[in-house]
Amino acid sequence: MKLIIQKWKKRTFPKKLFLIFDCVAVGILSIHFSFAAYAHTFSESYTDRVFVIEHDWQFSILYPISTTQLGFTPPFLGVAYVNKSAIDEAGVTIEEVSAHEAKHIEQFWELGFSHFGVETWKLEGVAEYVRGKPTADLCQPKEDESINRLNYRDYFIVVTYLIEKQGLTEEQIYETSEYPIETAKEWVLNNRCKKI
Ligand SMILES: [Zn+2]
Repeated sequence: MKLIIQKWKKRTFPKKLFLIFDCVAVGILSIHFSFAAYAHTFSESYTDRVFVIEHDWQFSILYPISTTQLGFTPPFLGVAYVNKSAIDEAGVTIEEVSAHEAKHIEQFWELGFSHFGVETWKLEGVAEYVRGKPTADLCQPKEDESINRLNYRDYFIVVTYLIEKQGLTEEQIYETSEYPIETAKEWVLNNRCKKI
């Protein structure tokens, strides 16, 4: 068998593109693996495995499809990243967002591949519950609030209701088939939002 390494000039344009893409992908993966190796060596808790990324451009390298995400947990690496500048802009705290992402690391760890069969509202709702509140204001969401954040607010509301009113455990939430948003909204908003 002969290993043929073609010269750059002799490559066709699509092959050049593939090579650049490969190098970028390998580069990004190596950064993730470095963070993962560091976390596996030095961290004592899931929260220790969350890295605070200072600048937007650094976060974009780790998570190229990022838009306004506050944090990101790559599957099965045992690490997560939070975007400091997006967090500052959203007016929330690094501690809250780190608690959310740390829960995602634990979910990948505990649920394994069945993680991919669990609905988004359950994974995100439990992570928001651990965080303590959603990014969109619970009682008075802004009029121009993003749909994504309003959805997360709904997930938070349903999970809060299932845990605090129905007494479900985290495992039972992952298995339930109901999504009682209307009942949950009434109960949670009545309990958490004081009327003047
Ligand atoms: Zn999340």
